[in-house]
Amino acid sequence: MGKEDFLVNLSMGSNGVPVRDRSVETAHPRREVALRYGIAVAAVAVAFIARFVLASILKDQAPYLFLLPAVLLAAGVGGFGPGILATCSSVPLVFIFIANYGAVGWSEVVNGAVFVLIGVGTAWIGERLRQARILALTREAHLQSIIDIVPEATIVIDGHGIIQSFSATAEQMFGYTAAEAIGNNVTLLMPSPYREEHDGYIKRYRDTGVQRVIGTGRMAAAQRKDGSTFPMELAVGEIWSASQRFFTGFIRDLTERQGTEARLQELQSELAHVSRLTEMGGMASAIAHELNQPLAAIANYLKGSRRLLDGSTDERLAILRDAMDSAADQALRAGQIIRRMREFVSRRESERQIQSIAKLVEEASALALVGAKDRGVGVTFEFDPRVNLILADKVQIQQVLVNLIRNAVEAMEESSERSLTVRTTPADNMMIVVQVDDSGSGISEEMATKLFQPFATTKPHGMGVGLSISRTIVEAHGGQIKAEPRPGGGTRFRFTLPAVTEEEFTDARR
Ligand code: ADP
Repeated sequence: MGKEDFLVNLSMGSNGVPVRDRSVETAHPRREVALRYGIAVAAVAVAFIARFVLASILKDQAPYLFLLPAVLLAAGVGGFGPGILATCSSVPLVFIFIANYGAVGWSEVVNGAVFVLIGVGTAWIGERLRQARILALTREAHLQSIIDIVPEATIVIDGHGIIQSFSATAEQMFGYTAAEAIGNNVTLLMPSPYREEHDGYIKRYRDTGVQRVIGTGRMAAAQRKDGSTFPMELAVGEIWSASQRFFTGFIRDLTERQGTEARLQELQSELAHVSRLTEMGGMASAIAHELNQPLAAIANYLKGSRRLLDGSTDERLAILRDAMDSAADQALRAGQIIRRMREFVSRRESERQIQSIAKLVEEASALALVGAKDRGVGVTFEFDPRVNLILADKVQIQQVLVNLIRNAVEAMEESSERSLTVRTTPADNMMIVVQVDDSGSGISEEMATKLFQPFATTKPHGMGVGLSISRTIVEAHGGQIKAEPRPGGGTRFRFTLPAVTEEEFTDARR
C-alpha cells in the first residue's frame, strides 16, 4: 500500500465512538491520478492558447516564458509525472511556433534543452513537495485517528480559548459536532461560573506564566449541548507551534466512575450490615442449641411429674395434670420453633430442590408468626390445588416469606382489622404466584419508590434490608417480586417462582 492509498481503516474506536473518515488522499487513486495529469494537460493547453492569441504581437519571442508557469503548476500540484508531461508536451508546441516564424536553428535547440532541464528539475522538486505534503497529512490523519479512539475527549484551543480541534469522543460527550464546536470559545462547554471566569484564567496565564491546571489534572464541571452538566477530570497540555500557543485538553467523564464509587460504597456498607447479621445468625444458632437442651429437659420433667400424679383422685390435682400437659406441650413447641430457627439461620450453601410450596409456606409462617396470634392477627392460607411443586432453595424462599409475613404483621399493629392471607395461584409461563395480603397501614408514596432498595426503612429499629434481600433471592430463582395496594386497604406483595409439573417431578425422581 503506497502513501497515496493511505486510509485509516478503523470505523469504531476502542471506546465505541465512531471514528471519522481520515482518508488522506482520495479513496479512488485512479481518479486522483487522472486529476493530476488532467491539470497538467489543461495548464499547458491554456498557456499554449494564450501564447497563440498573442502570436501576432510576440512573433517568435520568448516562446517558453508562457509555458513555464504551466510546468510549475503541473509539477507543484501533480508532482513528477505531470511535471514531465507538461514539459515534454510544451517543447513540440513551442517548435510549432518557431517553425511558423522561420527556420529552427541551434539556439532554439539549446533553448529547448534548457527548458527541458528546468522542467525536469521543477518536476523533481514538485514531487518532493507533494511527498512532504502527503506525509504531513498522513501523520495528521494518524494522530487524529489515535485521538479519536482514546477514551478521553480531546479538545485543542488556541491562546485565546478558541476551539481548534474537537475529537469524535468530544462530540459524543458534549453533543456538539466538531463543525459546531470549532471556532467557538471553549467556554461553550462550561457551566457558570467557570464560563465567565475562563477567559480571565487564560489571560492571567498569558501575563504571569503561572500554571494552575496545565501539566496537572483537576476535577471540574462541564456542560453538554442540551444544558445538562457532568463531572469531568481535565488534564491540559501546552504546545507552541509556529510561535503560536495552543492548549490541548483531555477530558474524562466522571459520571460513571462516581456512580460506580457510590454503588461500591453502598455495597460495602451493605456487606458490613450483612456480616453483622451473619454474626447475629451465628449467635442465634448457638443460643438455639443451648436452649433446646433445657427445653427438652423441662418437657421430660413435666411428663415425669405428670405420671407421678396419675392415679390420684384429688380434684385439684386433675387441674394440675392438665396444666402440666399444657406446659409440656408448650415446651415442645418452643423446642420445635427453636430447631426451625437454627436451621433457618445456619450458614449453608444454596441448594435448589423440588419443594412443596404449601409446606414451605406453612413452615415459614410458623416461624414468622411467633407471637402474632397474641396481637390478634387472623391468618388464612389458600393453596390452589393446581400448583404445588417448585424448584427452589427452601431456606431462601422461607426467608422471603418470613420477611413478608413479619412486615405484614408489623404493618397491622395499629389497624383495627388484622387479617393476613397467604395465597398460591398458577401464573403464565409455568410460574407460581405467592401472594401475601395484609390489612395494615399500606405503603406510603415516598416509600413505594424505594421499597426494594437496601436500608430503606420507616421503622425506628428497622434495617431496611429485608425486601432488598428478598428481591435478590426471588430474582435469582428466575421470578419477580412487587408490591401493590390491597383492594380494601393494606398491602399485597406478590412474587413468582418457577413451577415444576408432576411429570417433571416424576422424571427427576427416575
Ligand atoms: P425493615 O422491615 O427492616 O424496615 P424491609 O426491607 O423489610 O426492611 O422493609 C422496608 C420498608 O418497607 C419498611 O420499613 C416499611 O416501611 C415498608 N413495608 C414493607 N412491607 C410493608 C407492608 N406489608 N405494609 C406496609 N409497609 C411495608
